[in-house]
Amino acid sequence: MEQTHYSVVIVGGGQAGLSMSYFLQQADIDHVVFEKHTAMHVWRDHRWDNFCLVTPNWQCQLPGYEYRGADPHGFMRKDEINDYLAGFKRSVAAPLREGIEVQRVAPLPGGGFVVRGSAGECTADQVVVASGGYHLPIIPRLAERLPADIPQVHSEQYRSASSLPPGAVLVVGSGQSGAQIAEDLHLAGRKVFLAVGQAPRCARFYRGKDVVDWLAEMQYYEMPVSAHPLREDVRDNTNHYVTGRDGGRDIDLRKFASEGMELFGALCGADGDTVQFKDNLRANLDAADGVYNGINASIDKYIEKNGIVAGAPSVYVPVWEPTQEITRLNLRDAGIGSIIWCIGFAPDFGWLDAPVFNGRGHPGHVRGVTAQPGLYFLGLPWLYTWGSGRFSGVARDARYLLACIQHQRATATRVPIGSPS
Ligand SMILES: Cc1cc2nc3c(=O)[nH]c(=O)nc-3n(C[C@H](O)[C@H](O)[C@H](O)COP(=O)(O)OP(=O)(O)OC[C@H]3O[C@@H](n4cnc5c(N)ncnc54)[C@H](O)[C@@H]3O)c2cc1C
Repeated sequence: MEQTHYSVVIVGGGQAGLSMSYFLQQADIDHVVFEKHTAMHVWRDHRWDNFCLVTPNWQCQLPGYEYRGADPHGFMRKDEINDYLAGFKRSVAAPLREGIEVQRVAPLPGGGFVVRGSAGECTADQVVVASGGYHLPIIPRLAERLPADIPQVHSEQYRSASSLPPGAVLVVGSGQSGAQIAEDLHLAGRKVFLAVGQAPRCARFYRGKDVVDWLAEMQYYEMPVSAHPLREDVRDNTNHYVTGRDGGRDIDLRKFASEGMELFGALCGADGDTVQFKDNLRANLDAADGVYNGINASIDKYIEKNGIVAGAPSVYVPVWEPTQEITRLNLRDAGIGSIIWCIGFAPDFGWLDAPVFNGRGHPGHVRGVTAQPGLYFLGLPWLYTWGSGRFSGVARDARYLLACIQHQRATATRVPIGSPS
């Protein structure tokens, strides 16, 4: 390490880590950002080729680098997102050390932290963990019982229909990634078998506006986790499926089914060539539509209450219904040549040796501030609001943490340089 002590160490050079650096530079607080790969590499390396934002461009509100393009209500495609982020990286000009993995962070007895990285060790008065919310791709152990000659990938490894071997594709999971990947394959003419989970969905446009615009006007994105009806449980919610592709539209799995996609309930077992599904397809589709109609109904209420002139209200009416719950599928008979797991990620903070985690490995914090003085989290989904783990809310959270870091500096004893670890 070039320096043996920093006031602040930031772990992770994604949009959260660089946002933190932006504010620390403004306050003239010395710091370093350690990034194990390259800054913001996930947008290049962990997204499929036809990926585009689900959130409208105007919500790209990274600090000092808000979206100023010509299409605020559009949805940037993968290459445009990477251009935008490259510009953000240049504009922040963070003290960034790429290719350094932080392997251990532990509190020191007298205050401050020891930080061990792949390039050596240093100490820090304070540490901001900005290592993202999507660490370990989940592939269930039952996958080991599936035929070895049928390749399996996780959603973060999927690139395009043409990168998969020939044959039909089994997509497991219908959250944002699963639903969009199923659509990507379906549009490319591939036969798709989709195991539908409990993810909710929402409309792209309703009564003349993007639903995100309505929700913004309704102050939904200002609601802190402490005011959400689910409180902290909202952090476990699966994101609503909808897409920004081709200017934005709904994702309607029932429509895909009417066009030949085969839908099943949640995948629950595997036995040689056969996979098993729960008999909950109908219930899962109905529940997703229920959320869709519920969000639209809340917009109706808002429009009515405020006397807003808008397009006519409507309720989604199913365009397809399952005739029966099919609970078994023979992969060979179905011609399935590959499987894509789209069931999310597990946290991995194994390198952080501080008593701040709950039994499920999730950090305990209030607005990113932990019970360990000087230790903070940034960029996690619903850290503070809906936008915390997205482009829209991370700047607000980073600005708040700056105030906490400044307060801690003003009140805590500084760690002597070169303290023993
Ligand atoms: C499929 C998908 C679609 C999304 N779509 C949208 C969208 O449309 N709009 C939106 O606003 N948001 C979207 N998001 C959410 C969010 O914007 C991203 O997850 C974003 O990448 C979060 O930024 P971050 O900086 O918090 O974490 P990350 O981008 O994950 O960055 C964390 C960084 O930390 C590094 N790191 C991890 N551990 C260590 C370590 N021990 N030492 C050093 N470095 C480490 C990683 O290499 C990584 O670069 C999407 C997320 C996913 C997964």
